[in-house]
Amino acid sequence: MDEERRTDEADLGGDPVCWLNRVCMECGRFAAEPGDRCAECGADLPD
Ligand SMILES: [Zn+2]
Repeated sequence: MDEERRTDEADLGGDPVCWLNRVCMECGRFAAEPGDRCAECGADLPD
């Protein structure tokens, strides 16, 4: 069980909150890199 939990955390980058900054507020697309503009609609991503 511990190994499964460790794998899930690794997929989230260790911080479940950080990926929220990569989701476009306009179209909901997940950006590959944070702190940039959405590759789909060009909207500014939340920092
Ligand atoms: Zn977008």
